[in-house]
Amino acid sequence: MVRPVHISPDALAREDNLIRARLPLPQSEQDAARARLTTVLQTTLDLRQLVSLFFAAVQKVVAIGGLTYRHESHGLKIQIGRNCPHSGEYRLITREDNLGEIRFTRSQRFSEVELAALEMLISTLVYPLRNALKYREAVQTALRDPLTGMGNRAAMQSALEREVLLARRYQQALSLLVIDIDHFKTINDRLGHSSGDQVLREVAHTIDWVTRQTDMTFRYGGEEFVVVLNNTDDSEAKHIAERVRRAVNELAVNSNTGPVHATVSIGCSSLIESDDINSLFERGDKALYQAKRNGRNQVISGRVH
Ligand code: GH3
Ligand code: MG
Ligand code: MG
Repeated sequence: MVRPVHISPDALAREDNLIRARLPLPQSEQDAARARLTTVLQTTLDLRQLVSLFFAAVQKVVAIGGLTYRHESHGLKIQIGRNCPHSGEYRLITREDNLGEIRFTRSQRFSEVELAALEMLISTLVYPLRNALKYREAVQTALRDPLTGMGNRAAMQSALEREVLLARRYQQALSLLVIDIDHFKTINDRLGHSSGDQVLREVAHTIDWVTRQTDMTFRYGGEEFVVVLNNTDDSEAKHIAERVRRAVNELAVNSNTGPVHATVSIGCSSLIESDDINSLFERGDKALYQAKRNGRNQVISGRVH
């Protein structure tokens, strides 16, 4: 097992003032350093941990104050240490892949010899980095619903676990919306499965669009969605649910059979002290079925009195 690397700011400050006089390393030492580093970097698929390990290893050869790893199309930015005025920047591009950019910084200028040493070290990062990026992509694909692009049921489960823990730790409210499209079977039967799919996509995007950026939308079943609302109490949740209901009600979905109208029923629930994830979810689900029984296209709050 690899432990996360913790680097204290004091240690960094000391390192920063210490220009290593040993560079350039003799070829045999270079090879040994590379082999050691390659072995270390292959021990993790976690990107932050990988970059931390690399940072620690680089510091043994060249004194650096900070390191930033960025990959724009993956939406990644990992910063270790602190940002200093002098920098050396590298694009990590192989014949097959763009692996992002890495930037070393410190308070003194880098010498040519040091930059050469950094390049030598970067070469050890290429394959471990490619593996970690591929792993991350695979995990993300496994957590996303391909039809709507929203998180799937597995993603919802882990988001809920995390959000319940955080809500408890910081004593904040947490609410859920359980949403189900009304008479969706009829939409499918009347207009065909592909129009049904288009309705699913557009309803999902509408839900995501009208909720806040910090709210998380998941497709947890066929035509069923859940929105996790952190830092939101029951009356705010009902308000947001009403906004979702209205937005879907006003939506005219573009399908190859012409515009399609759909409605949703929504049940809300908010975390109480005795809750676990299941009881929180079940209250929302019960409220949803109450909304269905009451005639659909409405919001019911599963409030606990
Ligand atoms: P209610 O108002 O009570 O919710 O009625 P409903 O017809 O929406 O509910 P029901 O559970 O009877 O039907 C859900 C339908 O959703 C049945 C299923 O074929 C359809 N469905 C599930 N997944 C998909 C999908 O990925 N694409 C399409 N087009 N339809 C789907
Ligand atoms: Mg359903
Ligand atoms: Mg339905």
